[in-house]
Amino acid sequence: MKILLLGKNGQVGWELQRSLEPLGQLIALDRQSVDGLCGDLSDLAAVRSTIQRVRPDVIVNAAAYTAVDRAESETELAFAVNAEAIQVLADEAAVLNAWLIHYSTDYVFSGAGSVPWLETDAVGPVNQYGASKLAGEQAIAASGCKHLIFRTSWVYGARGNNFAKTMLRLAKDRDTLNVIADQIGAPTGADLIADVTVLAVRQALQQPELSGVYHLAANGEVSWHAYATHVIAFAQENGEQLAVTAINPIDTIAYPTPAQRPLNSRLNTQKLRDNFYLHLPDWRSGVNRMLREVLNK
Ligand code: NDP
Repeated sequence: MKILLLGKNGQVGWELQRSLEPLGQLIALDRQSVDGLCGDLSDLAAVRSTIQRVRPDVIVNAAAYTAVDRAESETELAFAVNAEAIQVLADEAAVLNAWLIHYSTDYVFSGAGSVPWLETDAVGPVNQYGASKLAGEQAIAASGCKHLIFRTSWVYGARGNNFAKTMLRLAKDRDTLNVIADQIGAPTGADLIADVTVLAVRQALQQPELSGVYHLAANGEVSWHAYATHVIAFAQENGEQLAVTAINPIDTIAYPTPAQRPLNSRLNTQKLRDNFYLHLPDWRSGVNRMLREVLNK
């Protein structure tokens, strides 16, 4: 079996390079061209001919325009990468009868209320990033290709920057941190997403009727403020010397950004767990593991 992975160096793409390897022959691309193969999703014609040349059985797309605030001003680019390119992937997957595995976001929802979102809930993005990701989902559904779309939230990887590392860095120099307390979600490890992807793909290959949209997030819920508090406490318990003495909760409106953020990022993951017989660990499990790596403990 041949697998084409796009976006191999992103948080999720990096972990997929590891987890997809035992599943089949893996061709992994980032936006650079290698051997005439192009993984730059802003070059639609080159991406199309890459898929036609590789003829994969499974396309896994971890590439995305993920700069939420910049998408408000670079809207055209965000839609090109998150929607138009996805149309190309989906159309080519349909021609090849290949599976398309794709990632989306809770930002397709409005963020209203406090109930975890179901896959069947009405969408209503509040920013351009969310709108572009929704357009990508819709292109996949319209193409008729076999697909798994995993909507996830608050993704972190041990590699590169993440919220927890930022909090640790700031806590070394500052005695006070102000952190948003009215946005609620579940920090979800890129490693968990990659591992769940492989298990789900294996099953979907045998059961094409599993094609569809699934919510994929770690179990439980937390605010950014409580998440930061957890990170700092964990670091201190493990001997980190930090300057911080107060972590203050603030509301989203006190921290204006170009893109509006949804307040309710909770995702109901029942459909994923039931259909694929999966267990999703509590968010603290992956976060603590990542912190041990970061703190070298
Ligand atoms: P990252 O931003 O870590 O990775 C995205 C990757 O896409 C990067 O390697 C980036 O490359 C690449 N990329 C950007 N533009 C292009 C392009 N034109 N052509 C090819 N590659 C491109 O994202 P994550 O791994 O965190 O996200 C994975 C998926 O999960 C995405 O679909 C995202 O929308 C979704 N998601 C992410 C969340 C999060 O909190 N991060 C939350 C919810 C959903 P480069 O570094 O060179 O720009």
